[in-house]
Amino acid sequence: MSTTDEISTDERIDQQGVIKIAIIGGGISGLAAAYELERLDERQRIQIYLFEKSERLGGKIHTEHRDDLVLETGAESFLVRKPAAMEWCRELGITDQLQGTRLDSRRTFVLSGGRLHRLPEGLSGFVPSKLGPLFRSSLLSVTGKLRAACDFFIPADRLQRDESLESFMVRRMGHEVYQKLAEPLMCGIYAGRGNELSLAATFPELRQLEQKYGSLIRGLWNRTRGKETADSTETPFKTFRHGMTTLVQAAEQRLTRTRIVKNRDVIQLARRTSGWDVYFGTGKFDSFNAIISAVPSFVLAGMIKSTASNLVKNLNDIPHVSTATINLWYNAKQFDGDVHGYGFVVPTQEQQLVTAVTWTSSKHHHRAVPGKVLLRAYVGRSGLELPTELDDDSLIDRVRAELQRMMRMQAAPLGWQVTRWPLGSPQYTMGHLERLAAIDSELARLGKLYLCGASYRGVGIPDCITSGRGAARKLVAESSSKTK
Ligand SMILES: Cc1cc2nc3c(=O)[nH]c(=O)nc-3n(C[C@H](O)[C@H](O)[C@H](O)COP(=O)(O)OP(=O)(O)OC[C@H]3O[C@@H](n4cnc5c(N)ncnc54)[C@H](O)[C@@H]3O)c2cc1C
Repeated sequence: MSTTDEISTDERIDQQGVIKIAIIGGGISGLAAAYELERLDERQRIQIYLFEKSERLGGKIHTEHRDDLVLETGAESFLVRKPAAMEWCRELGITDQLQGTRLDSRRTFVLSGGRLHRLPEGLSGFVPSKLGPLFRSSLLSVTGKLRAACDFFIPADRLQRDESLESFMVRRMGHEVYQKLAEPLMCGIYAGRGNELSLAATFPELRQLEQKYGSLIRGLWNRTRGKETADSTETPFKTFRHGMTTLVQAAEQRLTRTRIVKNRDVIQLARRTSGWDVYFGTGKFDSFNAIISAVPSFVLAGMIKSTASNLVKNLNDIPHVSTATINLWYNAKQFDGDVHGYGFVVPTQEQQLVTAVTWTSSKHHHRAVPGKVLLRAYVGRSGLELPTELDDDSLIDRVRAELQRMMRMQAAPLGWQVTRWPLGSPQYTMGHLERLAAIDSELARLGKLYLCGASYRGVGIPDCITSGRGAARKLVAESSSKTK
């Protein structure tokens, strides 16, 4: 890895068949793209530059170590079921640093009517796949439970059209399951609103199960049958013993041929015959044969606004929502809350600022030393965005008051740490897939610009890795076919 402040002019496009690529954005998507370019470029014909506007790589993956605590400010773990992250960990040689969630506290709660209720067991991908636990749960009324069971008898909707997450879940399982379970769990991933999020873009497999089995519960039950007992020590999520930054650092160390330029803000991209000119906040520019954009869609839109109007419009039409995470730590001896579990989610109808809480020291090993309790609250969702006028002290006051009420406790934290994520959560709203198709055809017309990142085809870490590596593969395939 090499880091530089200036790019020398003798590194302009080489006439000997060497191509020069700029990756813009050093989050996990940009890092995965750089890694894949290096891996595919056996003949070392690609000069790779990665420009990151901040002083650190990782974007929404960032760990801070403070007071013997491991504080995640963004992502805290990744889903194992989607193999891209585990595969990359194997390639990077860091699987020995992975850990699952704690098995001794495997339970999650949902706030309803101001009280925490245990989530029914047998949730598959956030949707009930068994009626027994659902019927035993204190979360739903008798009417709500009976309505959920109607899923077995309601015929599948054969119309091949997209619908909102809310419309689908209400149609299959009724309002109560939607409001108390599906909405906080499924929409929570996007900090989104169920009536706006597209089913086809967020959970397409649910529609396929409905079509195949005629019932969501039956479909999910069939999908999960036999898998639960296969290995009771396996957890669906993994994280790193020393925090998620382990992944970022391992990727950075592996990038031996990528010139990583931190503190370098890209402000404009201009299409030229041979590729793109990249303009920096420093007032300088440089030329590249192709670009991989690994920044959020609206950031890219701002960079190309003078180049491609339809593309800019479609990129800007992908909404993003602002959120924040707040780590709070307590003296265990004085802590009077019950944190036996992974934490809880808060449905929109509860009208709270806090949308979810992870009981971090109970959910993950090695996050807090014995004697301390570590919690993390999530704030902000679409339609109930983080009030921008709230400074950190006022935000903490509101969050503490809500936590005391929700968890029925009085304990005061020893310390806290606030991280704001302005426009940090992409929303895959109705029409998202059509927008992606339009973006793809605009890109094909424009040429030599490849997109990856959370704004498009999956917000989770495995999805972002897939998108980064995919963009690199596409670029290499298209470059080789043109030079043949
Ligand atoms: C609070 C929170 C919690 C999350 N928790 C999880 C979780 O537990 N598990 C999970 O799988 N996913 C989680 N996610 C989602 C996941 O972390 C993100 O979707 C993913 O990290 C995004 O990666 P990215 O590389 O696409 O974008 P980013 O991480 O946003 O990276 C983009 C990079 O581009 C840089 N940049 C921006 N503008 C410019 C510019 N003009 N010039 C140069 N560089 C620029 C930025 O500084 C940034 O480093 C979470 C997200 C948030 C916000």
